[in-house]
Amino acid sequence: MFEELRRVDSAIYDSVVGELKRQREHIELIASENFAPLAILEAQGTPLTNKYAEGYPSARWYGGCNFVDKAESLAQERLKQLFDAEFANVQPHSGTQANIAVMMAMLEVGDTILAMDLACGGHLSHGHPLNFSGKFYKIVSYGVNKNTECLDYDEIESLAKRYRPKMIIAGASAYPRIIDFAKFRAIADKVGAYLLVDMAHFAGLVAAKIYPNPCEYAEFVTSTTHKTLRGPRGGFILCRDEFAKKINTAVFPGNQGGPLMHVIAAKAVGFGLALKQEFADYQKQVVKNASFLAKCMEEKNYRIVSGGTDTHLFLIDLRSKEITGKTVSALLEKSNITVNKNLIPFDPKSPFVTSGIRIGTPAVTTRGMKEDQMSLISQYIDAAIGSRDNDSQLRSIRDQVLRLTRTFPLYEGMI
Ligand code: PLP
Repeated sequence: MFEELRRVDSAIYDSVVGELKRQREHIELIASENFAPLAILEAQGTPLTNKYAEGYPSARWYGGCNFVDKAESLAQERLKQLFDAEFANVQPHSGTQANIAVMMAMLEVGDTILAMDLACGGHLSHGHPLNFSGKFYKIVSYGVNKNTECLDYDEIESLAKRYRPKMIIAGASAYPRIIDFAKFRAIADKVGAYLLVDMAHFAGLVAAKIYPNPCEYAEFVTSTTHKTLRGPRGGFILCRDEFAKKINTAVFPGNQGGPLMHVIAAKAVGFGLALKQEFADYQKQVVKNASFLAKCMEEKNYRIVSGGTDTHLFLIDLRSKEITGKTVSALLEKSNITVNKNLIPFDPKSPFVTSGIRIGTPAVTTRGMKEDQMSLISQYIDAAIGSRDNDSQLRSIRDQVLRLTRTFPLYEGMI
């Protein structure tokens, strides 16, 4: 594979091969990452990339769209079936653009949004001052309870009553517990707000029916396609039929031009795979692995934020080990283990340093790893943190990681 790329552009070929080798030889614990199946990579690398198809199936601004129409219609139908949704727009290039489109469709500039604080696990596109959401709307943030480190629905309700937001956003990037959508719905109804659930992180769990389906509660549901859902990189929006026209217009021409038809075809493949029983079994193992790995870390005297996890991710509070998230992510990198530094709730440190790391199991589970490997991974992480000033020890952990990753091959035969 990639022979023509190598001939035409050896610099980019080297970058691709280097990244493939990195993915093969590292233990990937970034909670928002996964390994897309080969069929999805193939769909993305097709001549569909050449096609302009502004508009929607059967209503395009360009000719020659009959084949891409088929791909987009299949993506829409499979996605609606997967989440039992009335309407689907599969064109957003990313999760952030899906969120932009919903806000553009339903709000006026200056309207108030109540969303989760970034420092407690929220996402940039839910109101960071440098993001469009923080620039164009008035953002009121809710956090988590200081004792439980879980969402405090009474606080969310009192904020909603005080600020009367036009939209409430539920969903986060670093929240390990199941979100109670019924409580969010009740709060939104009390103040007449729209409810947007951003399920980017846990969409795969919803598809597998091991996490409540937000489509039963929210007017709008957005997501990425590349995290637990294990599709190509991209986004989508689900909503009730009554909002379909507004959503479509906000995506195109509102904030995008031509849709990425090769990515939409790959999304269709991903949604098709997610409808299968194997995918539900995979998601169950993702959650089992996360809770087992969290337990292993707890046994090694690491504090797990909120005491554990119900999902694919958890946060480790590193303060008792007197080390920062920034240092841990750098030293784990030396041992071929990839994590990201992450704020913990009420973190005294800055987002650039942090007191925590976030750990997720979607990618290692895709490689076929189970509880036995989670136990090994916890030993490697703990040993690396204990060897912070000992490069030869970190190299020896890397050798053990290499042995482990070789027994769980990734993209075999690709090069
Ligand atoms: N929403 C949530 C909750 C996320 O965690 C993310 C990405 O991490 C996004 C939206 C944005 O996705 P993208 O990177 O595709 O814009």
